[in-house]
Amino acid sequence: PYEVLIVGGGPAGAAAAIYAARKGIRTGVVAERFGGQVNDTMEIANYPGVPETDGPHYAAALEQHVRNYEVDIMNTQRVAELVPAAQPGGLITVKLDNGGTLKSRTVILATGARWRNVNVPGEQEYKTKGVAYCPHCDGPLFKGKDVAVIGGGNSGVEAAIDLAGVVKHVHVVEFMPELKADQVLVKKLHSLPNVTVHTNKQTTEIHGTDGKVSSLDFKCREKGTLTQVPLEGVFVQIGLVPNTEWLGTTVERSKFGEIVIDAKGTTSVPGVFAAGDCTTVPYKQIVVAAGSGSTAALSAFDYLIRTPAP
Ligand code: FAD
Repeated sequence: PYEVLIVGGGPAGAAAAIYAARKGIRTGVVAERFGGQVNDTMEIANYPGVPETDGPHYAAALEQHVRNYEVDIMNTQRVAELVPAAQPGGLITVKLDNGGTLKSRTVILATGARWRNVNVPGEQEYKTKGVAYCPHCDGPLFKGKDVAVIGGGNSGVEAAIDLAGVVKHVHVVEFMPELKADQVLVKKLHSLPNVTVHTNKQTTEIHGTDGKVSSLDFKCREKGTLTQVPLEGVFVQIGLVPNTEWLGTTVERSKFGEIVIDAKGTTSVPGVFAAGDCTTVPYKQIVVAAGSGSTAALSAFDYLIRTPAP
């Protein structure tokens, strides 16, 4: 059995693996796709010490860094179930989709998240070609251009405020008759000169020209009229879905499905820790995920030296 078994090979899982392996404990990583969301990222320019890189290079570097240590990497394997130990300090079981099982004294859950899609024609086609999901990451690519934010909840309105400082004009498109964000954010949004809010509008299609986004269509839900707005970027901000469905009720999760952790990455199950976008850790970013991965690994090590095997 492993002493630390990490589920997920994104920045959080990779950082956890590096920290665990450097303690000299038997470490394994099982991941559906090593690198995680980073694989789908064009440019990364906010990781301290790495002024500029792109997703595929960064993902390959993560894997290489982990391979520098004695870590078992089980890539392209999907985990289907977690079975807690019969008693604290005992072995935790991780069941794979392919029928295999792995056992470990501690487990670090780092399965990340996925952006919720708006599911309109053009979204998949123009992903990374104008359709974006992370304003902190991709906002600067649209400097001086017109963009839309789909979604008027807290993340959508925060994104619009953030983008308004960078781009030329922001159109906020909300399905419901009112913006759902906190009042203070809505007030701030309305104070900005380069933002137009479209409520009660259903996004129907994203169009492109020469392989890049060129306009957005939305329909008035009251009158049925169709509007086409010329623009170069569309930020979809209708939620981030943590990849935690497979855990069911074994580990405590928030109402958003995030694994509830404390400052040390501890979950509700003894010996099970969690890190990164799949958890309640605030702000879903690479540097945050990597930091929380190292925290979880150090906490798992601490648990191992303090909790005798039954
Ligand atoms: P993830 O990267 O999501 O990795 C999760 C890992 O778990 C993957 O290996 C996945 O295959 C695996 N996994 C999931 N479910 C299972 C399962 N059941 N069994 C086995 N393995 C499983 N952040 C920045 O800081 N800067 C940026 O410029 C930036 N740009 C971004 C651009 C895009 C398009 C996207 C989508 C995100 C961007 N982000 C950026 C956010 C950043 O990518 C995430 O915050 C970060 O990757 C989270 O790391 P993580 O390890 O928690 O999860």
